[in-house]
Amino acid sequence: MTSPKDLENLQKEIASLARRQGDLEDVVLEVMERRESAQERVAELGERLASVQAKIDDATSRRDEASGQLDADSASVAKEREVVAGSVPADLLKLYDKLREKEGGVGAAKLFQRRCEGCRLELNITELNEVRAAAPDAVVRCENCRRILVRTSESGL
Ligand SMILES: [Zn+2]
Repeated sequence: MTSPKDLENLQKEIASLARRQGDLEDVVLEVMERRESAQERVAELGERLASVQAKIDDATSRRDEASGQLDADSASVAKEREVVAGSVPADLLKLYDKLREKEGGVGAAKLFQRRCEGCRLELNITELNEVRAAAPDAVVRCENCRRILVRTSESGL
């Protein structure tokens, strides 16, 4: 037999469990909402990742293409240089190579409007007169940087 007291206790317990169930349902709802929001964030980040990866792929392929072009250009220039070097007297080529090594890859410079394009200094009147007096096939050099000066119609002589 169940006493009225037992029945009352049971009813209290049922009420308490119902409140607890309500609380837990709220927690479940909140967790589901958070999960949904996290899934949206995952999807959003996934899209951004895909977009960044696409940019990386594009940049990589453009870099590889440019690199291939540079290799081809380099080979072509090396061939041209070989041809030109073959027509330059050996002692001049030796001097040029020596200067090129010493002067950061530039062994000869254009004399442009009285200025050495190697060191950017303008030749003084004495130097200009020496260059003017030199034979057309003579090797003239910059007094400042010692590079070989290449005379053209734009040299200002
Ligand atoms: Zn110079």
